Amino acid sequence: MTKDFVTGIMTKPSIRLFIAAPRGFCAGVDRAIKIVELAIQKWGAPVFVRHEIVHNKFVVDSLRDLGAVFVEELDECPDDRPVIFSAHGVPKSVPATASNRNMIFVDATCPLVSKVHIEAERHFNNGLQMVMIGHAGHPETIGTMGQLPEGEVLLVETAEDVASLRVRDTEKLAYITQTTLSVDDTAGIVTALQARFPKIVGPHKEDICYATTNRQAAVKEIAPKIDALLVIGAPNSSNSKRLVEVGRAAGCGYAQLVQRATDINWPELGKMTAIGITAGASAPEVLVNEVIDAFKDRFEVSVEVVETAKENVEFKVPRVLREPA
Ligand code: SF4
Repeated sequence: MTKDFVTGIMTKPSIRLFIAAPRGFCAGVDRAIKIVELAIQKWGAPVFVRHEIVHNKFVVDSLRDLGAVFVEELDECPDDRPVIFSAHGVPKSVPATASNRNMIFVDATCPLVSKVHIEAERHFNNGLQMVMIGHAGHPETIGTMGQLPEGEVLLVETAEDVASLRVRDTEKLAYITQTTLSVDDTAGIVTALQARFPKIVGPHKEDICYATTNRQAAVKEIAPKIDALLVIGAPNSSNSKRLVEVGRAAGCGYAQLVQRATDINWPELGKMTAIGITAGASAPEVLVNEVIDAFKDRFEVSVEVVETAKENVEFKVPRVLREPA
């Protein structure tokens, strides 16, 4: 606040907010959350969820309040309660174990992740060895690699990793990718793979999903207009972390991940006058509004929404949750 010496009135400094669109929830996240809510409605609490249904603490806490119990492994769930598998996908062994234990289970794997699972299996059945571009240890990577027998999928994280790949037959290879990678970084890794293995087979259409692609494109569009970018998302959310990197690569010197308005480092924003705001695919819009309100408390705010694509993707929940109990 500054004081006007003529009128004596305290005034707030001005700031421009550029809000990226699309941002926030994608169709896969929306579906996964609905699955947990409908499962609790259908079977009552507790309903177990293997891994965070989507990578967002606010979402997980809200579902926990409704009666969801989050666990990391199936052996933490009793046989007689339903279990949901998270949007990131699971190795084949997980539903197989649940079936053996006669558990009720619902798979909330995003259909766009399942599409990559099917692709991997098809290549395997055609005798091709798989190279997966992804992040080691991310649940989606673990789930996708776990669709095939151990050792059948080789993981690369960077273009440099390609040089050290040891493959069975350079003529019989295919690649797949995690759905939430940086579009630009992945293009570099694919180029390195094609240079070393000219016969490598790629996906018919990008494995990186529409939501990841659209959110990155919106950040690139606002980057030249802003002094700082705030990405609302969780530290374990792959697509949110990629948005920070995309912002930096597009020339935004200050790009930070914030889970909520309380994470914003106001002194660091200093005298900046144009701020970009976006949200990862697992961050709800209520958190975007919370951040905008926090700016309004401190500044005279003008808001401009920068829309680079319209999204109308919707995925149905599994049949079992569309039927009455
Ligand atoms: S980010 Fe993409 S792949 Fe992941 S849940 Fe959303 S739509 Fe599905």
